[in-house]
Amino acid sequence: MNEIEARRALAAAPLADAFLPSLYRATAPYRGCGHGCRYCDGRAERYYVDGDFERDVAARRNLPALLRAEIGRGVARREWGAVCLGSGVTDVYQPAEETERLTRAILAELAETGLPFVVLTKNALVRRDFDLISRFPRALVMLTLTTLDPDLARLLEPGASPPAARLACVRAARDAGFRAGVMAMPLCPGITDGAESFHALAEAALDAGAEFVYPGGLTLRPGRQKDCFVSLVRESFPNLAPLYAEVYGEERPSGMPRMDYAAPRDREWGSWLDARGTPRLVPHSIYRDFLSAPDSLFVLLCHMATLYAARGIDTRPLSAALTRYADWLKGERSALRRSRVKTAPSDPFPLTRVLAERLADAAGSTGPRSLESILGNERLARFARSVVAEGAVFDYASLGFVIQ
Ligand code: SF4
Repeated sequence: MNEIEARRALAAAPLADAFLPSLYRATAPYRGCGHGCRYCDGRAERYYVDGDFERDVAARRNLPALLRAEIGRGVARREWGAVCLGSGVTDVYQPAEETERLTRAILAELAETGLPFVVLTKNALVRRDFDLISRFPRALVMLTLTTLDPDLARLLEPGASPPAARLACVRAARDAGFRAGVMAMPLCPGITDGAESFHALAEAALDAGAEFVYPGGLTLRPGRQKDCFVSLVRESFPNLAPLYAEVYGEERPSGMPRMDYAAPRDREWGSWLDARGTPRLVPHSIYRDFLSAPDSLFVLLCHMATLYAARGIDTRPLSAALTRYADWLKGERSALRRSRVKTAPSDPFPLTRVLAERLADAAGSTGPRSLESILGNERLARFARSVVAEGAVFDYASLGFVIQ
């Protein structure tokens, strides 16, 4: 296997990740992915993976030692928030991990930080590491699942675990006491995005104990990624070739499909989940335990913008408030990061404590430092005050507060 050197192991973002709720991003131990999903975004030119994406997998074998050194220098000591291992362009439990065991070595280092842990995979190999994952104060295990059909899964995602094994993993994660959910993405036009197929998948996920089902459509960036998937469509689903030519005919750099195709499907998946009370994003009730109050409020505002837009509600006031809040949070955080605040045994994450105090002060005050002033929106400030000061939990299906 090829080897590449990692230069950095762990980084804290200026804002939390609203997709995989986390503050820290750990560098993935592999480049490329032996799961070889035919739709994988990692094949796209923008990620600069040389050679054959699924065969020329490279390992970053210096990562565990680098991570140990960074943790020893105090990275991850001043701010509290979940650390996410993995990304959309490689899978930390891909086949190489069986022998390389780099993800396992990284987990052993991360478990020492006292931070929560978030992982996303398509491989049941994650179960091997449940012993280490249980050493984190909290863990969220997410399995990607796009179809229940094992033959179709083998065609689309040839190196990943069969669907039944992924569902068994969700069940095992719940039994182990972790939070767990299913990322149902990408659902491919005409192949896996039909209502019947999605409903069956979501039912199976819920039966397995998933706490949310997060659906999403397929993006195809022009170039290697699109060429790879379109050639599969031509070989295996020739009758769908005209559909793909139409839906991805705009050749957007982001790979987004035509909105007149994507929007009705998003609505159908979302309203089906809403009707069953199933969150369609990682729910507030989970990530509020994985992020500090200021970061959790940021993710909540991001998610609300998505949820209200999906219901056809004008989100411009919310988006404006979100931008103001993001600016406030980034500004306060970057000033604190430049400061010389030190950790102490009685104060292990001092920057997070100070940020949370500033937000609590804003929730309890009026005038220029109030929540109204930060958000520029009185109604949203009342809402945010309920979340920050009273610990209210927002439910994504009913769009209302719930008693926990
Ligand atoms: S598991 Fe993820 S990273 Fe790996 S090939 Fe599939 S889509 Fe790409």
